[in-house]
Amino acid sequence: MKALVCGGAGYIGSHMARLLAAHGHEVVVLDDLSTGHAQAVQWGRLVEADVLNLPSLEAAFAGQRFDAVFHFCARSLVAESIARPYDYYASNVVGTLNLLEAMRRHGVRRLVFSSSASVYGQPASGMVGEDHPTQPTHPYGASKLMAERILADAAVAYGLDSVALRYFNAAGATADACIGESHACETHLIPNVLRAVLGSGPALEIFGGDYSTPDGTCIRDYVHVEDLAQAHLQALDYLRAHPGAHAFNLGNGRGFSVRQVIAAASVVTGRTVPWDMAPRRAGDPPMLVASSQRARAELGWSPAWTGLEAIIESAWRWHRAQPW
Ligand code: UDP
Repeated sequence: MKALVCGGAGYIGSHMARLLAAHGHEVVVLDDLSTGHAQAVQWGRLVEADVLNLPSLEAAFAGQRFDAVFHFCARSLVAESIARPYDYYASNVVGTLNLLEAMRRHGVRRLVFSSSASVYGQPASGMVGEDHPTQPTHPYGASKLMAERILADAAVAYGLDSVALRYFNAAGATADACIGESHACETHLIPNVLRAVLGSGPALEIFGGDYSTPDGTCIRDYVHVEDLAQAHLQALDYLRAHPGAHAFNLGNGRGFSVRQVIAAASVVTGRTVPWDMAPRRAGDPPMLVASSQRARAELGWSPAWTGLEAIIESAWRWHRAQPW
């Protein structure tokens, strides 16, 4: 198979490229390197192109016969999406439309799309299944939901088969620490905890200690990036027998609070995590935990990395290997 990995220089996309190559597939990475890293492209040719730049997108498809596209290109910072919504709708909605149109023109009919648990907004309670109402609370979540809607319409109109994978909290790094999570502007909890431990970042700010959760801090479902990549491969297999547009949650089904993540990181690193209490962050729901029953039943997916400490340990190995 020849696969196009859009956003393959980024965190989850680079793990996808690695997995595809490990399965013997040919990989082409499309990335504008705005947030991704050329050095993360180790398993395929890099085509520098921007999904908002039609000539560069056309050039990436010209003369190629891709069997499938994995679409990870996106802006993904919640706070930035609230401050700059047009940028988010442009990149995540118009960019996706441009990619779909390029696929249509070049006869590529299968897509696995990187969606997000943020399409659900503030869940009523408990585990969130795919039938939970989708009411995103910020432009980032709304942009992912709009893209999913476009995929559903594209399936009907153009026979484009797709799976949207709604990730909960992606975390961790490859066991050999050759790629990991590296954002110029880091907002995610586990990297911020580890940077605080290493002294390469400030003390961790805990965004809110007064939520209606057992210890007052927000609860999330952390799922390893390699398990996410594996789900994409299984999603593509699924499409061969199940045409149409589908959506699946990807999570471990267990929630951990910010304080529990800090405690686990202390055990893994053997060091104290410096932290300060800070106000709540806009758009954060108190609890977001996946029911991934549908992915387990239909895709045959189950995460290999189920323990929080093991996930943090893989991230720690990668963080310690960085020059910062
Ligand atoms: N969080 C925090 N301090 C940070 C980063 C995140 O307290 O420096 C909290 C955040 O409020 C949320 C949880 O950790 O409750 C996970 O946040 P993250 O940004 O990693 O992922 P999100 O759930 O927003 O996708």
